[in-house]
Amino acid sequence: MTAIFDELKPAFVWKHFAEILKLPHCSGNEKPLGDYVISVAKSLNLSWKRDKVGNVVVSKLATAGHEHAVGVILQSHMDMVCEKNSDVEHDFSKDTIKAERRGDWIQAVGTTLGSDNGIGVAASLASLEDKSLVHGPVECLFTVDEETGLTGANRLQKGFLQGKKLLNLDSEEEGTFTIGCSGGGDSEVTLPLDRKRRTLKDDYRLKLYGFRGGHSGLDINQGRGNAIRLLARLLYNAQEKFAIELVDLEGGNKRNAIPREARAHLFVDRSVANKLQAFFKSQFNGIKNESKAVEKEAGYSFEKIERVSPKADPLTAASQKTLLRLLLSLPHGVIAMHPEIDGLVETSTNLAIIRCEKKTAQVICSSRSSVATALRAVKDIIKATAELAGARVAQPGGYPGWEPNLQSELLGKLTEVYTKIFDKAPVVKAVHAGLECGIIGEKFPGMDMISFGPTIEHPHSPEERVHVGSVEKFWKFLAVCLQELA
Ligand SMILES: [Zn+2]
Repeated sequence: MTAIFDELKPAFVWKHFAEILKLPHCSGNEKPLGDYVISVAKSLNLSWKRDKVGNVVVSKLATAGHEHAVGVILQSHMDMVCEKNSDVEHDFSKDTIKAERRGDWIQAVGTTLGSDNGIGVAASLASLEDKSLVHGPVECLFTVDEETGLTGANRLQKGFLQGKKLLNLDSEEEGTFTIGCSGGGDSEVTLPLDRKRRTLKDDYRLKLYGFRGGHSGLDINQGRGNAIRLLARLLYNAQEKFAIELVDLEGGNKRNAIPREARAHLFVDRSVANKLQAFFKSQFNGIKNESKAVEKEAGYSFEKIERVSPKADPLTAASQKTLLRLLLSLPHGVIAMHPEIDGLVETSTNLAIIRCEKKTAQVICSSRSSVATALRAVKDIIKATAELAGARVAQPGGYPGWEPNLQSELLGKLTEVYTKIFDKAPVVKAVHAGLECGIIGEKFPGMDMISFGPTIEHPHSPEERVHVGSVEKFWKFLAVCLQELA
C-alpha cells in the first residue's frame, strides 16, 4: 500500500482505495475495477453477479441472528472522470494515479483523484471484508458509467437486486443526506422557415458572448443570462424600428448547458448601420444592468462582415417574426421551487440550442423536475408554445427523477442515527440534476433510498480532493447504519 495511506483510518477503506488508484477506471473502461471487486468477493467466499454492461453485485449474508432484517444495498459507481492538467504526463489507461497528502486532504498530482466515487467503492468493499460489522443481508452494487450517461443504472435488470433499502455512497458533503434528484426530458422543436430574395445590401453579424453559462440544472437559479434569449430580444426590438433581414441565427451547443454565446447573420443597409449600432448598444446596456451582479464578462459585437455566401436568402418578414417570437416565448429558467426544501429548484427548463437550416430552424429545450407530472407539464407548455408558432415538436424519452420523501422511514432512521453519533442533525437536501437513484427508484418501485458520502471538493477536475477526517466519519456512520437497520 502506498505509504501515505498506511497511517490513515479506517484501514480497510484506504487499503482498497489504494488498490483502486492502480486500476484504470475511466467511464466506459470499468472492467479492470469490476475484476478487482470480483476478486475481493472470491477471496471472501461471497456470491457475486456481473451483468452484460458490467455492473457487479456482491452479496453478504446477514450476521447470525439478523437473517430476517431488511436487505440493504450499498451502491457506488466504479467509473471516474479522467481529467489532467496539460503539463502532466499521465496515461489513464495504464498509469497509477499518484496521490499525496496535503494537510487534511488527499489529492492527486495534476489529475483527477477518482475519490468520486472510489471512496464509495472502497467503503463497500471494506464493509464486505470487515467481520466486526453487525448487519442484515447486504448487497453491494457497483455500477458502470455513471458519469457520462448513467448507463449502468439505466441497464440494470429487474431481479438483479433483492434489498429494499438503498444507501447510495456518491454524495460529496459529509453530514448531508441527499434524498431527491430531478428527472429530465428534451423537446426538439422544428420550425419551418420561408425565405425570400434579399433586398438589403450589407452583411452584419450581431454576437453575444462571454455569458457564464453553466449546468442547466445546478446553475439554473443563479440569474445567468441566456445568450439565445437575449439575442432574440435584441432582434425582436430592432426589427420594429429598422429594416433588417435575418439570414441565420445560432446559439448554444449542449443540451445540459445554459447557452453562453449566440450570433445572428443579418442583412442591413449601411446607411442605417450606425443607428442600429447605437440601438443595440443602449439595449445591451440595459441587459448588462439587469445582470450586473452575475454577468461581469458578458459582451456583444455588431460588425460588418464579408458577404459569406452571396446567394443566401434571408427569411421572409413573417418567418423572421415567427422565429423571434418563438425564441422569446419558449420558457427558460426556474418554473417552480420545492415547497418544503429550502432553496431547491423543483422544476426548470433550459432554452439550450438553436440552429437554422435552409428550410427549418431546430430548437432544443431541456427540462427538469423531481416531480414526474410537473416535468410533463413544462414539456406541454413548450409544445403548446411551439404549436402556436406552427412548429413540430418531438419529445424523446427522458429519464426519471427521485421525488424527495421527507416521510421516508430510512431518512427518519438515519437522521436519528447520525444525530446520536455526532450530536448534530444532518443537512437534508435534494439536487436539481440527474442521479443514479432516480433511475434505480423507477426500476425497483418502493425502494427506500438515501445518498451520503465523505467530503469531496472539486470533483471532475485535477483539483479534486477528499477530506481525510470525513472519510473516517463516513465509515463510522455507515457501520452504525448497517447495525441499526439490522
Ligand atoms: Zn459520482
